[in-house]
Amino acid sequence: MNFYVMTLFPELIDAVAGSSILKRGIESGAISVEAVNYREYAKDKHHHVDDYPYGGGAGMLIQPGPVYDCFEELTRRIGKKPRVIYLTPKGRVFDQKAAEELSKEEDLIFLAGHYEGIDERVLDLIVTDRYSIGDYVLTGGELPAMVMIDAISRHVPGVLAAGSAEIETFHDGLLEYPQYTRPEEFMGLRVPEVLLSGHHLNVEKWQREMSIRETVKYRPDLLPGAALSEKERRFASELLKEAEESNEQ
Ligand code: SAM
Repeated sequence: MNFYVMTLFPELIDAVAGSSILKRGIESGAISVEAVNYREYAKDKHHHVDDYPYGGGAGMLIQPGPVYDCFEELTRRIGKKPRVIYLTPKGRVFDQKAAEELSKEEDLIFLAGHYEGIDERVLDLIVTDRYSIGDYVLTGGELPAMVMIDAISRHVPGVLAAGSAEIETFHDGLLEYPQYTRPEEFMGLRVPEVLLSGHHLNVEKWQREMSIRETVKYRPDLLPGAALSEKERRFASELLKEAEESNEQ
């Protein structure tokens, strides 16, 4: 899968893409990440891409021309017009389901804004999707683009070890169960006995129960959308009731 990021700060993209799992994914050929600087498409000799907003208001806005020309050149080079994601706090909030869905694309273009954002006309012309990474305002779209690329890449075959993405938090709409590694005892705290038993069925049962417990404890808002059996739903409701009762006391 190929990711392209249109940005004024390509070094931010390269820094994140150059380490850890993304780096390995790139080296193995499973993904590619390319930063394209739309400042290079500015027409004046000082390479300005921003100007004052019409109607007033604080800050500067990115002009439509350089972004449009950069997009035209990029899509000409790659020979198609893939989905274009504009990173914006006004977008739909990105989540695991969106990461899975977007990982089915062959190519994706991300458009990172800066300053007060980008002239609406070029957004209307080229953008197909608008995503936010959460209800707060950041300085630019580069970190949000890399957050999305990281999360999407985990679903691209060959980036993670087979199966790793299927057992993580948000799978089935639940949080992941707690995990432990050596030593068996740390500061007087022992690894739960069932995990040392070698009994796979019991381990799986424990992990499922703990996933439900963790979700009830930390993210009860996820429960209505979680894939639970009737029995598990009753169990979750009992846990919720107990938690509410102990809060009232
Ligand atoms: N004036 C804009 C507003 O109020 O909606 C905020 C502009 S913000 C300072 C500059 C750029 O950062 C945006 O164009 C966007 O690309 C990016 N950005 C900021 N917060 C973001 C968020 N929560 N999710 C995704 N992108 C964000």
